[in-house]
Amino acid sequence: MKLSRSLAAFVAASAFAVGVVFAAETAAPKAKPEGNPGKCCVKAEAAGKTCDHKCCVEANAAGKNCEKCGGTNPAKKS
Ligand SMILES: [Zn+2]
Ligand SMILES: [Zn+2]
Repeated sequence: MKLSRSLAAFVAASAFAVGVVFAAETAAPKAKPEGNPGKCCVKAEAAGKTCDHKCCVEANAAGKNCEKCGGTNPAKKS
């Protein structure tokens, strides 16, 4: 009884962990964000770098273009 319960908990925990990993993988966008990046980001990209502006780094981490620097993002579909 005790064993089967801990086994069930283990299976549930494993399924949860797999779900988290899967979600993290699908959440990480490898493609460029839609819309247009800001000028600073375009410049950095042309130089083979990524823009190091804090605002741009944050926006890129969220899979977006930095709107503060003139980038645009597609309107949310909701
Ligand atoms: Zn930038
Ligand atoms: Zn920026």
